[in-house]
Amino acid sequence: MRKIMIVGAGQSGLHLAISLQAKGYQVTVTSNRTADDIRTGKVLSSQCMFHTALQHERDLGLNQWEIACPPVEGIALSVPHPELPGQKALTWGHRLDHYGQSVDQRVKIPGWMELFTSRGGEIIYKEATIEDMEAWTQTYDLVIVAAGKGPIAQMFERDAARCWFDKPQRALALTYVNGMTPRPEFSAVDFNIIPGIGEYFVFPALTTTGPCHIMVFEGVPGGPMDCWSDVKTPQEHLARSKEILEKFLPWEAARCQNITLTDDNGILAGRFAPTTRKPVGTLPSGRIVMGMGDAVLLNDPITGQGSNNAAKVANAIEKAIVAHGNAAFDANFINTTFDTFWNAYAKYVVEWTCGMLMPPPPHVMEVLGAASVYPQVAKRFVNGFDDPRDYQNFFMTPEKSQAYLAQVAQAQA
Ligand SMILES: Cc1cc2nc3c(=O)[nH]c(=O)nc-3n(C[C@H](O)[C@H](O)[C@H](O)COP(=O)(O)OP(=O)(O)OC[C@H]3O[C@@H](n4cnc5c(N)ncnc54)[C@H](O)[C@@H]3O)c2cc1C
Repeated sequence: MRKIMIVGAGQSGLHLAISLQAKGYQVTVTSNRTADDIRTGKVLSSQCMFHTALQHERDLGLNQWEIACPPVEGIALSVPHPELPGQKALTWGHRLDHYGQSVDQRVKIPGWMELFTSRGGEIIYKEATIEDMEAWTQTYDLVIVAAGKGPIAQMFERDAARCWFDKPQRALALTYVNGMTPRPEFSAVDFNIIPGIGEYFVFPALTTTGPCHIMVFEGVPGGPMDCWSDVKTPQEHLARSKEILEKFLPWEAARCQNITLTDDNGILAGRFAPTTRKPVGTLPSGRIVMGMGDAVLLNDPITGQGSNNAAKVANAIEKAIVAHGNAAFDANFINTTFDTFWNAYAKYVVEWTCGMLMPPPPHVMEVLGAASVYPQVAKRFVNGFDDPRDYQNFFMTPEKSQAYLAQVAQAQA
């Protein structure tokens, strides 16, 4: 039986651990936090996931909260009017072909830990170090580092050719709340773009206390939405969240008249630079480990892709490990597995996500504007959140978007 060590019990690590366990591998997971630490700790993410990633979870029986979690049925977009305060320059929404869902990782991860151990899996509770990995590479066939933004991920060399930025592009904040007025028609990610200032999006989710809404703030560094450093208490965080909406997005503030925090840990503020790293980590002895998930493919949350990527890459790595049979997990295996995923999928996610962090060029605003006129454009754009590869065909370049919009207009005429 082949032995696999996975460092990090998060979205990608536990997904892979449970899938390999089901295939008969002997899997050990190392976690620097217990299930209780996670359940009672601070929120980690807004973790909205779309159909393909959710289906990978369903295929493994990892969707224990599917009925309890409110669905995200669509995506809506609004842009405030630059000259008419309180009015929108653009607004539209469209249903997704299949619903998305966000299950608080404080609910999901402890649940998956219990599932993994109930099936005979072992979790070692400790902060994994380089010395630990030196030892594990001698007793396991493969050591995978799925440690997210943990400092240990810095053992993987930054891949400058696959990075767009070397600094954080947004000041991030999360606020988990009860009592928000639901949007009419269908539930959705309500995505608001405030040019030059940042973005705000909000959607229904399931947290430790039941259904809630998650507010996500993405402030351009140094701008008026980069405003969390003086916030000291959970109530101040909630108040700041409301102040931002009252100032820039009054239609969203109107939904928040009666909101309260789900719990004092339902808040987060921070920032990080989106970074792609090389997937082979070399230990001082020369032995190697494999990077996975945010440890090597860290995206800004603006497009909500990190957990989706994590589920998809866990699925891809599981298939690669099984197909590899009894052969050695050498650098060639690691590079080939990562490059295959990068070329087939991840590079399109990174290009789109990084593109969305830049000031929107005219062709982007044309497609987003056309979506308010042509439902088929809105439908195509919203379903790209499930599979962002399609954006290269109609959104990412002026040539492609102009050709697409001309085709749509012609079909309409
Ligand atoms: C503000 C914010 C909003 C987000 N919103 C979304 C969204 O809406 N949709 C979406 O798809 N993605 C979203 N993401 C991203 C998503 O949460 C991550 O991409 C995803 O959780 C990555 O999974 P992972 O397995 O790589 O890492 P993680 O889920 O972070 O898991 C890593 C685990 O490793 C542990 N660990 C770290 N170091 C060690 C060590 N040395 N030893 C042992 N254990 C260790 C950590 O404690 C953690 O439990 C968001 C992220 C942020 C910050």
